Amino acid sequence: MRPALPVLVATSALLAGLALAAPAAAAKASGARVCPTENFTYGEGWGADRGERIHTGIDLGGKRGTPIYAIEDGVIDRTKKQDNGALQIVMRGESGSKFYYGHMDEVLVRGGQRVDAGDVIGLMGDTGSPGAVHLHFEYWRSGGESDAVDPEPLIRRICPG
Ligand SMILES: [Zn+2]
Repeated sequence: MRPALPVLVATSALLAGLALAAPAAAAKASGARVCPTENFTYGEGWGADRGERIHTGIDLGGKRGTPIYAIEDGVIDRTKKQDNGALQIVMRGESGSKFYYGHMDEVLVRGGQRVDAGDVIGLMGDTGSPGAVHLHFEYWRSGGESDAVDPEPLIRRICPG
């Protein structure tokens, strides 16, 4: 038994490597989307009352510094710091849809930058919403910026759990 052990270890290391590489390769081949963050809890969703307007996205709560991912291959349309301090990212995916990410502590991309699905584009935080660390996520399916649709079905489809 003993002589076989190093071989087994090498094999599992190889398998672990393959397991890590496989999802990215699959996403590439199919143009599939990836979950925009991880280890999150569902907060307020579409239509929540925000006074003069309704909430046109979904809030995904998590720990400060959690990676925020490009949901599909595309281009960063722009980044901005709002008057209230909230950092935002708008990306245009190759599907033609746009995606809006808000409240990151850090934005790691610039307007015009190409991104691949799964690239880390920011870190979750609470800019513009002190004490409430979360990702505000909007799905502008048609690509029109007043055409937000409820992103929850998409999030539930592409995110684990
Ligand atoms: Zn929100």
